[in-house]
Amino acid sequence: MTEKPHCTAIVLAGGRGRRMGTEVHKQYLLLADKPVLFYSLNVFQASDLIDEIILVAGEGEEEYCRENFVRRFYLSKVGKIISGGRERYHSVWNGLKNVEEEGYVFIHDGARPFVDQEMLARLYEEVQIHKACAAGMPVKDTIKVVDENCNVRDTPDRSTLWAVQTPQVFEAGLVKRAYEMLMQEEECHHVTDDAKVVEEMLHYPVKLVQGSYENIKITTPDDLVIGEALARR
Ligand code: C5P
Repeated sequence: MTEKPHCTAIVLAGGRGRRMGTEVHKQYLLLADKPVLFYSLNVFQASDLIDEIILVAGEGEEEYCRENFVRRFYLSKVGKIISGGRERYHSVWNGLKNVEEEGYVFIHDGARPFVDQEMLARLYEEVQIHKACAAGMPVKDTIKVVDENCNVRDTPDRSTLWAVQTPQVFEAGLVKRAYEMLMQEEECHHVTDDAKVVEEMLHYPVKLVQGSYENIKITTPDDLVIGEALARR
C-alpha cells in the first residue's frame, strides 16, 4: 500500500473585514454561538485527509487565536500560527513559506465556515489527477462586464461562468513556485485567489470542482444572517 501524501491546510484569518463595518474582525464574529473561524478549522481538524493546519492570523492576533481557537476547541492539528500580511496573497505566501515541497496544500478562507468533508474528498481526488484545483459553483445570475460608469460592455455566456470558492488545492511545490514568482513582481494587481496565481505565473490549467452554494464567504452584514441560519441548521 502506498503512503498517503502529506496534506497541509492553510486557513486564512488575517483580513480586517472592512466591508463588515464592525470593530470585531469578521472571522471572530459569532454564528450560532461559535466564531466564524471555528467552523472551517473544525472541518479540517476532523478530516482524515488533513495532517496539519497552518493558521494565518492577523498581525498581533496570534496569541488570541492560540487561546481562543487552538486551546479552547482542542485543535491539535494546528501546528503553526503565522502572522498575516497586507493583502490576502501576502498572507498566503507567509503560510506557504512554512509548507514542505512534497504533498498537497489546501488553501482556505477562514471566512468560509461551511466547507464540508465531501468537498474536501472531491478536491483531494481531483488534485491527485490535475495537481491544481479549486472549489466553485456555476453562477445563478447573469453576469455583466461594466466600465467605470457602470455601462455594460459585455454579457458573457452564463453557461461558461462559475463563481470560485475555497478550498483551492495544489501540489505544494507547484503553488509555492507560482507564489515565489508572484512575489518577485513589482506590483501584484487584483490577486484575489490562488488559482489565478498558478494560471498566470505558470500558465498551468486549474480544474474547478463542485463546491456548494452554502460555501459562502462571510463578508457583509447580510451574510451573517444567512450564515446564522445555516449554522443553526
Ligand atoms: O478579503 P477577502 O474577503 O478576500 O478575504 C478572504 C480571506 O482571506 C479571509 O478569510 C481573510 O481573513 C483572509 N485574508 C488574510 N489576509 C489579508 C486579507 C484577507 O488572511 N491581508
